Amino acid sequence: MLNRRTLILLRNSLRRCLRHKVPENTRVYIVATPPTISSFVVRKDEWYTICISDALTPEGQIEAYNHEVDHITNGDFDSDEPTGLIEIRAHRRDRE
Ligand SMILES: [Zn+2]
Repeated sequence: MLNRRTLILLRNSLRRCLRHKVPENTRVYIVATPPTISSFVVRKDEWYTICISDALTPEGQIEAYNHEVDHITNGDFDSDEPTGLIEIRAHRRDRE
């Protein structure tokens, strides 16, 4: 069992790794996903739900989190572009 101080240190060091802070209207879950799915985000009633695979390494989960929040902050949900193109652009931003 982690004590309160360790939890705070852990949370602060995790925050430093995250490119974006968690937007207000967003929930994040670590879940079991099919092997080819590392993460996804859905929007319903102005709430975003980010699901990240429990099979990823902690570093992979942070990378997946940053990718999904980028879709939200970039306004991809309101884009008329094809999903494939949105993904290509998002992955390009991941590497910046
Ligand atoms: Zn994506």
